[in-house]
Amino acid sequence: MRTKEKYKLYRPKKFLGQNFLVDDNISKKIVSQLDMKETDTVIEIGPGRGALTKHIAVFCKNYIAVEIDKSMSEELEAIYGDKGKIINEDFLKFDLLGFKKPVKIIGNLPYNIASEILFKLFDHMDMIECAVLMLQKEFARRLIAVPHTKDYGIMSVQTQVFSSPKILFNVPPTVFFPKPKVESSVVKLTYPEKENIPLNKEIFKKLARSSFGKRRKTLKNSLKDLFEELDLEFDDFDMFFDFTKRAENITVAEYVNMSNLIFSKVFYNAE
Ligand code: SAM
Repeated sequence: MRTKEKYKLYRPKKFLGQNFLVDDNISKKIVSQLDMKETDTVIEIGPGRGALTKHIAVFCKNYIAVEIDKSMSEELEAIYGDKGKIINEDFLKFDLLGFKKPVKIIGNLPYNIASEILFKLFDHMDMIECAVLMLQKEFARRLIAVPHTKDYGIMSVQTQVFSSPKILFNVPPTVFFPKPKVESSVVKLTYPEKENIPLNKEIFKKLARSSFGKRRKTLKNSLKDLFEELDLEFDDFDMFFDFTKRAENITVAEYVNMSNLIFSKVFYNAE
């Protein structure tokens, strides 16, 4: 039976973002972006029916797949259980702490929870070497966006602070079953040793969230609640930042500097 016909027998679950890859050349092309070595630890997010799995599990000795759908993970377990570890769990709840760098991540992601997955990866940047991810094209563009553009937002700032993102190639809806309504892109995030990183991730995240929460307003307005919560005065930072600017006009480096100064001040106030 041809792959597409085989997939048609299964009714994909829309709420789990189940759009399966049915073009093996694309699967191979995505997997090749991992530059896999036999000894690598590779974690796949949402393996589904194994379109990517089949090119990883046979080669890599430490393969772990995390799939939320029980029937899919049982199916995969039956085929690849002796080659890798198939875990039936929500990736957002999956404990990554036991792993040591370098871990490589791969996934044709469920688009509805792509942001949450990326935030989780950023929280674990210390153990990840790289991530090759299929995402919605518009979403992928936001990851690499620069200031003063409409695509520049919280995802751009967080992605570029914690990783170096690159869009590798675009993928049309025709290579999936069922066909999604949107175009897709494959993105590679590498996690180099970055110099300019936030001293405190929580403060950095709060700062980015508050700034872009009201992106049309000036920073003085959008950061008011955060400054109150942290018991800070704008006057103490005026010489470093122009709070009349808007979130979309602040560079990634400026966000990091601002969050580090805020952290130092909060730390100093608490002494
Ligand atoms: N990798 C397969 C492929 O390329 O054909 C499937 C990709 S499909 C776009 C997304 C997969 O992620 C589905 O198998 C879905 O069941 C799974 N999934 C959805 N939410 C998940 C979650 N929270 N944790 C783990 N897997 C999830």
